[in-house]
Amino acid sequence: MIQALLTIDDIPSGNTRAIVDYLNEAGIQAIMFAVGEKAEKNPEPAVYALQHGMIVGNHGYSHPHFSQLSLEEGIREIERCEEVLDRVYELAGVKRVYRPFRFPYGDKGQEKKDALQAYLREKGFSKVNDTQIPYAWWRESGLDRDIDTLWTFDFTEYNIRPNSGYTMDDVWKRVRNMAPDNGAALYAPEGRHILLLHAHDETDELVPGYYRLLLEDLKKNGVAFIRPEFVK
Ligand SMILES: [Zn+2]
Repeated sequence: MIQALLTIDDIPSGNTRAIVDYLNEAGIQAIMFAVGEKAEKNPEPAVYALQHGMIVGNHGYSHPHFSQLSLEEGIREIERCEEVLDRVYELAGVKRVYRPFRFPYGDKGQEKKDALQAYLREKGFSKVNDTQIPYAWWRESGLDRDIDTLWTFDFTEYNIRPNSGYTMDDVWKRVRNMAPDNGAALYAPEGRHILLLHAHDETDELVPGYYRLLLEDLKKNGVAFIRPEFVK
């Protein structure tokens, strides 16, 4: 069996609500990572996600590359997004139990990595339970010790843009690739994944309902979606 936890980055967006509706219809609970600055201006999509069973996590205030910030600036990015998320949970009337964090671009801050991990640990951020991820590279890279939520499979659909030359065909090739250069093959037997998808209106304009097309394909191929679980 292939098991997968779904994570969706960059809410709020115009299509957040439609994505949440689809996930409810499909019986999938996802972690949706919010950009603080956007959720501060437009909290409603994140509120809607919370009121419809999703977990909303911290994706930084202004979606920066953490390697390009000082440690203090990086911590401030996380704190400012926390403040916004506390308010979003309050608006939704949902108790905030878990605090997952995802670095934008998966950029863990390079030389500041250890200090940022120590900060996340100390502040009680929630680590996704990754004990059953079977890939040797996950442990060999020390990812099993990190608090932030990385991923094992990136759909890369955010590369589909006018004139980028990247199309849904490239995404399908990636989905079906049984020997990818990095990460783990999505459809290899006995897999256990953290999936990365994005809530981007630009993608929806070019491939309407891209999230539905992709996730329905996973279901057809026997992927069982697991609910988010965390370790302390
Ligand atoms: Zn992002």
